[in-house]
Amino acid sequence: MKKLIVANWKMNPDSFSRAELLVRAVQKTAASSKNAKVVLCLPYPWLTDISHKKHKGLSFGAQNVFWENSGAYTGEVSPAMLKNSGVEYVIIGHSERRKWLGETDEMINKRVKAALKTGLKVILCVGEGIEIRKKGLSAAKKFVKNQLQKDLKNFPSSKLQALSSYLVIAYEPVWAIGTGKADKPEDTVEMAKFIKSLLAAKPYTLNPNVLYGGSVTFRNAGSLLQYKEINGALVGGASIKSKEFIKIIRAAG
Ligand code: PEP
Repeated sequence: MKKLIVANWKMNPDSFSRAELLVRAVQKTAASSKNAKVVLCLPYPWLTDISHKKHKGLSFGAQNVFWENSGAYTGEVSPAMLKNSGVEYVIIGHSERRKWLGETDEMINKRVKAALKTGLKVILCVGEGIEIRKKGLSAAKKFVKNQLQKDLKNFPSSKLQALSSYLVIAYEPVWAIGTGKADKPEDTVEMAKFIKSLLAAKPYTLNPNVLYGGSVTFRNAGSLLQYKEINGALVGGASIKSKEFIKIIRAAG
């Protein structure tokens, strides 16, 4: 099965021409990769201009989405707008949004439901902070379980079943994001197994892909992606350096 390599460009780059250059730089490698499916999550101003055209080997994603499809919600972007612009994925619940924009699990739950209902594929981010991780992996699992239970609350399970392949979980320990200190692959594997078994059980009965995110570089990508339990990577900083990102795509095998 192909590994999902997702680029989170965050609030970069600062011009459309630079965004286009980045897309062009990775496209050839993405199109020729047998083992990676590449998704680029761009900031809104560049996203739809790029996503509405076909780029062989590339899928596109947003970094957030609102929970209503239209109405008086100044500044928001709806799932329908993204879907109608050729956007396939959306990142929801990124820790930077939880931290800087006050996103609650309740808001995230509404976003996840609305996005899935509209036919977008959701990359739901969960992960513990350093204070919890210092207590050990069991404490981290408990934290992640609690986030997942809240973020995926009140899904009628029959509907969820149909959406199984549309939900991707990104395990992103907050202390690993942008710090240069990635999680140990063995610990990530254990967390990925935990997430998969939690969501395989009732009331979810889901079989989602689980990605790892947090200081993924071309140096550590291979050692993470070698495990079957880790279905791909969510890459922040290294995804806006095209040469590095290309090496990460190649690390998928
Ligand atoms: C992220 O923003 O999702 C991320 C993982 O960032 P970085 O790769 O820079 O740690």
